[in-house]
Amino acid sequence: MEKLNNSIDRSWIDKWNSPFIISGPCSAESEQQILETAKRLNSSYVQVFRAGIWKPRTKPNNFEGIGKKGLEWLHKVKKSTGLMVATEIANAEHVKLAISFGIDILWIGARSTASPFIIQEIADALEKENNKIILVKNPIHPDIELWIGALERLSGKGIRKLGVIHRGFYTYKNSRYRNQPNWNLLLNFRTLLPRIPILCDPSHICGKTEGILDIAKKAYHFFKYQGLMIESHCDPDQAWSDAQQQITPENLLEMLKKLTCIEKSDQKSKSERSLDSFRILIDELDENIISLLAERMNISKKLGTFKKYSDIAIFQPSRWKDIMKKYINFGKSLGISEKFLEEFFQLLHQESIKIQNHIQ
Ligand code: PEP
Ligand code: MN
Repeated sequence: MEKLNNSIDRSWIDKWNSPFIISGPCSAESEQQILETAKRLNSSYVQVFRAGIWKPRTKPNNFEGIGKKGLEWLHKVKKSTGLMVATEIANAEHVKLAISFGIDILWIGARSTASPFIIQEIADALEKENNKIILVKNPIHPDIELWIGALERLSGKGIRKLGVIHRGFYTYKNSRYRNQPNWNLLLNFRTLLPRIPILCDPSHICGKTEGILDIAKKAYHFFKYQGLMIESHCDPDQAWSDAQQQITPENLLEMLKKLTCIEKSDQKSKSERSLDSFRILIDELDENIISLLAERMNISKKLGTFKKYSDIAIFQPSRWKDIMKKYINFGKSLGISEKFLEEFFQLLHQESIKIQNHIQ
């Protein structure tokens, strides 16, 4: 781990006045869409133009990317705007093609990071081009080891210009995010690899335009990430993928100005800032607790209906005694006080009984 951390070359990002901004559409759709979006992004705020050419999609029969011809459009953007260009690669063939079109930054998507075979194939393909900037998105599920493993495979082939993109983690629970941030995991990740540049992708965390500024603020202002990747499109409503989360280039610039103002006008002391950071961590966990409680109570409702039709008593004292014992022991083993656990489960149980009674 230390070897990886020390090998990281940060010169590609340190030379910019933060924040380092990557923006552009989720997918390349047409030459006109690419060129117009790029033209409307202001190069005084944006360093890199992004567009997905090969799109990994959860379900088949969705738009899977325009393919190779999109690389020509990106090449044109680079020539006409002077912006660096970036795209996602997911196999050795993509690497070869992207390099042949002069793509400056290659990123590895969340689904690919989760697959050591894919990462190894990409790392092998990059061995001779190990001066490229490679950004690795976090794997879909919150597994730090898998994420670091991907970086180690790349570093093992001599790639030093590495960075990571925090795009949030899969959640099946009720959540206001498409992918929950899990800020605490990112802080742990940074403790392990303090030198690696971290960019945040609020677009894929939020899944909608609402909340993007808030996430960007947390990442850049509170947690001091080096940059952001935010999806923008010349006509977001007509986008072929991720339409709900893309903003116009003008909205992006407005957002970035707000972010700069927040940073400049912040008079808070170091300790007040630390307090805010702790609160962000706590708030996220509390929201998760509420969403778990909602799921828990939903099952109570179903259980109530089942008991009613099966003629089973709602309150089962022996089951209650068993679970109390089990949970108190588990909670104690994690350092939670017995009294709190007792009171908490008492309340939870009462509410569950109330819900089940309501059905009767
Ligand atoms: C993307 O950036 O458009 C993308 C597909 O992201 P992720 O790999 O984070 O889902
Ligand atoms: Mn997208």
